[in-house]
Amino acid sequence: MQERALEILRGLGAVPAVPFHEHGPARYIEAFLRGLSIDARRDHYGNIIAHYATGEDTSRPPIAFVAHMDHPGFEVIEVEGDRAVARALGAVPAASLVKPTSVLIVPPGGEPVPARTRPVDSQAPQGPDRRCVLVRPLSQVRLTPSMPVVFDLPSFEMRGETIHMRALDDLAGCAAILAALERVAAEEVRANLYAVFTRAEEVGLIGARLLASSEELPRETTIVSVESSPVIPGVVQGDGPVIRTGDAMSTFDDDAEQALRGAAARLRERDGGFRAQRRLMSGGVCEATAFAARGYRVTGIAFPLGNYHNATTRLTDPDGGVGAEYIERSDFAGGVDLIAEAAVGSVTGDASSGPLLAEVPNETRDRLKTTDG
Ligand SMILES: [Zn+2]
Repeated sequence: MQERALEILRGLGAVPAVPFHEHGPARYIEAFLRGLSIDARRDHYGNIIAHYATGEDTSRPPIAFVAHMDHPGFEVIEVEGDRAVARALGAVPAASLVKPTSVLIVPPGGEPVPARTRPVDSQAPQGPDRRCVLVRPLSQVRLTPSMPVVFDLPSFEMRGETIHMRALDDLAGCAAILAALERVAAEEVRANLYAVFTRAEEVGLIGARLLASSEELPRETTIVSVESSPVIPGVVQGDGPVIRTGDAMSTFDDDAEQALRGAAARLRERDGGFRAQRRLMSGGVCEATAFAARGYRVTGIAFPLGNYHNATTRLTDPDGGVGAEYIERSDFAGGVDLIAEAAVGSVTGDASSGPLLAEVPNETRDRLKTTDG
């Protein structure tokens, strides 16, 4: 089961993507959904929306799992002979703007071409903003404006129990949703769930904001953002996926979170080894905030992430370096379990908010009444 989820993650990692250039992962995801015979459509902006509803009880609100298909990178904006100026899209590591960096230029439909960047001379004319680099391919390629450029980092690599990838944020989210969906479909469990794959998250939650402001998802849908988020104090890689109570911008909903807490409790009951953490992941903003702003009930799942947005440690170097992101395999597997279980809970009613705390026993109540401390 775990192997299957990793296989999906590997498949997604093989197709580079930056904001506005998500066709690689999008094609993979659409083919995958077709293989499961699950209805999927694109909205006006290219966000992918799949709906799985079997034995649907329409009195219960659906649950939607949302992940984004892009990752910070660059885009060619100007070609000057055999080199190009490329502009950063999303929060690329500071090091990549000031130090020569190995990258891949991705020609349309072609094999990625290794290239090297160097910082733009501060005296030279700049692009529309200062976050630009010069890119020189190491072999022959016809450069054209708007070609995406990604870091030359492993697209998928297991090192012991740790997964290293150029773009775990947020391909781990996309893969976890697909793996859970495949399990739900194979077992033909009753569920009413949406799987949503958005575009251009890294440049300001754009796809999610446009989707949230349309009527594409029913207003009563519980939204679960599935993300990778930087490790912060109190969060431990390997201690399980994080049930995310908020992000850098907003606090999420308790009744939405109950869908995840309930699922985690049921998993723990069945398998004593299941672990999850619960935390406000303030290291970044996620798409739940975009949906919350439009009145949806939101919560989140986060994989504790190392080398967030490919920025390596700054301990030894003020600018840091550029490296693969990493998460623990067990956190990823736990996230798949949590999504699948929460999906089932969406129709069995286990997701509804029960009383948070049991009644106070009479004996204890009476003790307070009859004593004064
Ligand atoms: Zn992300």
